[in-house]
Amino acid sequence: MYQNIKAYADHHHVALVAVSKTKPADLIRELYDQGQRIFGENRVQEMIEKYELLPTDIEWHLIGHLQKNKVKYIAPFVSLIHSVDSKDLLKVIHKEALKNKRVIPVLLQFHIADEETKFGLSIEEAESILTDMEQLPLSGIQIVGVMGMATFTDNTDQIREEFRRLKQYFDRLKARFFHESEVFKHISMGMSGDYKIAIEEGSTMIRVGSAIFGAR
Ligand SMILES: *Cc1c(COP(=O)(O)O)cnc(C)c1O
Repeated sequence: MYQNIKAYADHHHVALVAVSKTKPADLIRELYDQGQRIFGENRVQEMIEKYELLPTDIEWHLIGHLQKNKVKYIAPFVSLIHSVDSKDLLKVIHKEALKNKRVIPVLLQFHIADEETKFGLSIEEAESILTDMEQLPLSGIQIVGVMGMATFTDNTDQIREEFRRLKQYFDRLKARFFHESEVFKHISMGMSGDYKIAIEEGSTMIRVGSAIFGAR
């Protein structure tokens, strides 16, 4: 299954994040041996344990909700944080990045689903954060795009509508805050059940777990 999904992503020029949460290091290693380099985890502790066991050229993406007091543990090595949903979290990532003498790439996570439980910003909150940052830039972070999760539903029209909204947010922020920048370019959307729809709606990065590793 991995090879098919990888070929599909490559064909569409979309990055594939293999979501390895709850899966043991030896399964990750098997995928690594087939060429996969980007892995996504949603828990800090689990990501650190796997980082220590596995090859250093793996790009570790944090895709789950991130608590401010845990940023320091991943700041030395994380490649991309998909789940930034507050100004305070951005500031903490900035500070920890500077301590590690690096710049940490992040995505702004948007709330696009109609479920209460999913984290994320509204477009108004994001615009307010980015307006503040025009006055006071945070040199330890680089905002490279947006991320969102569609509602868990069989209604593909609804899923498509939600992805379309995320793409609109991306376009709006790009025009207003990043028009001169090449770095704001990622739309992280699409999981095992909906990555084909996401790619049709403009995804540049899909996060696929169970379709690669099997059910959790
Ligand atoms: C678990 C998870 C995924 C992958 O989900 P699958 O349905 O297993 O592909 C993608 N994104 C986030 C944020 C996740 O937590």
